[in-house]
Amino acid sequence: MKIPYVITPGPTQVRENVRLARSMETTNPDIDLEFYEFYKETCEKMAEIMNTKNQVRILCGEGILGLEAACASLTEQGDRVLVIDNGIFGEGFSDFVKMYGGEVVYFKGDRQKSIDIEELETFLENDSNFKYATVVHCDTPSGVLNDISKICPLLKSKGIITVVDTVAAMVGEELRVDEWKIDIALGGSQKALSAPPGLTIVSISDAALKAMETRKTPITGFYCNLSIWKNYYEEKWFPYTMPISDIIGLRQAIDNILEEGKLNVIERHKIIAEATRNVIREAGLNLYIKAGYSNTVTVVEVPEGIKVEELLEYMKKKYNLLISGSFGYLKGKVIRIGHMGENARLEKTLFVLNGLEDGLKALGYECKVGMGQVFFNSIKDTLRVNS
Ligand SMILES: *Cc1c(COP(=O)(O)O)cnc(C)c1O
Repeated sequence: MKIPYVITPGPTQVRENVRLARSMETTNPDIDLEFYEFYKETCEKMAEIMNTKNQVRILCGEGILGLEAACASLTEQGDRVLVIDNGIFGEGFSDFVKMYGGEVVYFKGDRQKSIDIEELETFLENDSNFKYATVVHCDTPSGVLNDISKICPLLKSKGIITVVDTVAAMVGEELRVDEWKIDIALGGSQKALSAPPGLTIVSISDAALKAMETRKTPITGFYCNLSIWKNYYEEKWFPYTMPISDIIGLRQAIDNILEEGKLNVIERHKIIAEATRNVIREAGLNLYIKAGYSNTVTVVEVPEGIKVEELLEYMKKKYNLLISGSFGYLKGKVIRIGHMGENARLEKTLFVLNGLEDGLKALGYECKVGMGQVFFNSIKDTLRVNS
């Protein structure tokens, strides 16, 4: 298998020290008490990144597990759940809510903008009788970023439990779980954390835990039951054997972030993303989102007459560069530059922009500026190559 240069919005590139950490010799994580300490410390470091005092757990399963687990743990037959939808992942939460017997009510926003807080406020004045609400921080297929700092406090003021999918934003965008009143925040290892896919990260507030413990009916399922983790440390009993190599790798990825400084990492994403958006506009191309851009992914409309698959294939063939199209209603319309985590680097984004410009040219679209050059000049004094 020939490994391409991956600049997709997850999975992202994995730094060598993370890959090496995953190849270390392993112990038996069920019975070795030192592993319980290692796991607990890793969760605490994750809590530091997420700015929370809530319990954080690392679960065995790719990011989607967290979305399903939150819905499985909270939903009882007939519960009304507010699904805040301005994108594919936003809408997708409804599948999990329904699967566990919940009654979905949508708040639908413009898919090219962040959720409008005033509209949501008006909506909630008429109807706020919801057990919990789901919202996506960065909805990756379109790259729209929602203002969780306003949405969750508003929901909590109505007594609604808040569930946030921040899988594609966490680490690349600010995330203040406690200050923003997020009851359940969900992340995945393969996005800006830049570890391979396989782990879900979840923070659980006391209010969310209480809602699980005071249910009238038991939680359906075992893997998706977030309450089984409650006393793992005191009892030295994991619900199942932990994927130890995945966790050792994640720990290195977390240490990489903390070593650079979590605020520096967020700033690096901002610099790369703003410069990318600017040069895309200067080239005469259109960004899909009209307001509320996530700094983890840039979604670009493909000019008339150019086929997304041909463009992607050209870049793959000529440069071994893997970027992605999108799916759902955006399929065949846009391409996505996933500058998140280890991908959010000057030289990597430069390579993508040069490849994209060449690909567009080969298929008949001439950019108005040399994208690579303009991008490089705009940030070369701010970010060094390799940083
Ligand atoms: C990646 C992602 C997930 C996890 O699901 P995948 O199977 O990796 O696509 C969940 N939510 C969002 C917003 C994501 O970007």
